[in-house]
Amino acid sequence: MLDTINALESAVRGYVRLFPTVFDTAVGSELFDVDGKRYVDFFCGAGTLNYGHNNPRANRALIQYISRNGIQHGLDTATKAKVQFLETFQSVILAPRALPYRVQFTGPTGTNAVEAALKLARKQKQRSHVIAFTHAYHGHSLGSLALTANSYYHNDAYGARHNVSHVPFDGYLGEINTADLLDRMLEDPSSGLPVPAAIILETIQGEGGINVARDSWLRQIEAICRKYDILLIVDDIQVGNGRTGKFFSFEASGISPDIVCLSKSLAGGLPMSLVLIKPEIDVWKPGEHTGTFRGNNLAFVTAASLLDYWKDDELASQIASHESTVRNTLNSLCEKYEDLQFTTRGRGLVQGLDVRCGKLARAIIDRAFSTGLVIEASGAYDEVLKLLPALTIPKAQLEEGLGLLEQAIAFAARVTGPEKPAVCVEQQIETQVHQITNVLSTGSNTVGQVSLPTIHR
Ligand code: PMP
Repeated sequence: MLDTINALESAVRGYVRLFPTVFDTAVGSELFDVDGKRYVDFFCGAGTLNYGHNNPRANRALIQYISRNGIQHGLDTATKAKVQFLETFQSVILAPRALPYRVQFTGPTGTNAVEAALKLARKQKQRSHVIAFTHAYHGHSLGSLALTANSYYHNDAYGARHNVSHVPFDGYLGEINTADLLDRMLEDPSSGLPVPAAIILETIQGEGGINVARDSWLRQIEAICRKYDILLIVDDIQVGNGRTGKFFSFEASGISPDIVCLSKSLAGGLPMSLVLIKPEIDVWKPGEHTGTFRGNNLAFVTAASLLDYWKDDELASQIASHESTVRNTLNSLCEKYEDLQFTTRGRGLVQGLDVRCGKLARAIIDRAFSTGLVIEASGAYDEVLKLLPALTIPKAQLEEGLGLLEQAIAFAARVTGPEKPAVCVEQQIETQVHQITNVLSTGSNTVGQVSLPTIHR
């Protein structure tokens, strides 16, 4: 069956190359392919399946809704499903956190939410410039792509990535506080960095390598936004929806973003995205940012049913307990492979193991896949194994997946062992040469466009 995919699907196909099988069914944290082979899922659609595959609460609600011929498509007309979602979101998520947001439904995928957020910020501030961060990932439509830092996705032929500057994320310059640097540059009328309409950030950069911003840094960025009259946009598409242990990833820091982008796990796997907007900046004219699939009624139904998880603390305490299980395993791997200098980072159930070499990470992923674990890597060199198990995963399956990961690392470290340091150095040099060539050919020299000689976080 893979032959059909290879023959008929565009060369752009990606994940099928990493996980070369034909998946058929899935329940919770288990995936099954057409040959009946079982996999434990530590990938979860890059953070889309926080509540597991075919979550029974969502499925029950969906089946009931379809059985009574509930409206499936209605543009952005009012439907009972939408009203119920909005009321539940208000009472379960926004009101208990005293968050005053209005909800804008956008096109169904994450990048649609980012585009809407950008456009609204630019309109409200009447400035076109936006600041994003090194290693940022915000999607692939052209506005979002301008924010996405990884040069693999760029091509000048798409048109210039206008009106965006990338500045160093927290930890990018080691001990130097990058928020101080940003403040200094915004204060200086000759720094070359214009005061933007907005600063957009991920509190934890998922695709960028599980780079966790400190709460104090986030508060400093918020203060900078207030000081220079800049809007703060948090892209919570990958690490929102409970991934960090709280519904929003920024809750622990106490910041109050002006705009929040949400998508991925919101509806448990069905496409749905939204933007949360402080009422005072909701300057849209009616229908000014429109689209056919804004408001997926089937997704409203599943999303409302899944918000039940946030009515009490049960899920949050399970996340905390799973977090320590994952951390303990990752820490013990760092000790075991001390010579390979692995490091860990993360919060809640978004955890990373930096194996410092994309080729080693890929060897681990391939081995893990062949033994029944689905996991991917992120980071500038795809050198960080990204653990995104479902928040609802049973402890036994979490431990099973971690066991498979340990075995895959033992296998891959043995195979690539002595050769590894040379392979990694060569790979990093190759990537840097590519980035520098890119900068020279585009004439762009935005801060953070070129990686520093070693990976700093
Ligand atoms: N923002 C973040 C933080 C993401 O992780 C992603 C997807 N990985 C996006 C935006 C884009 O979402 P989508 O792929 O659904 O367009």
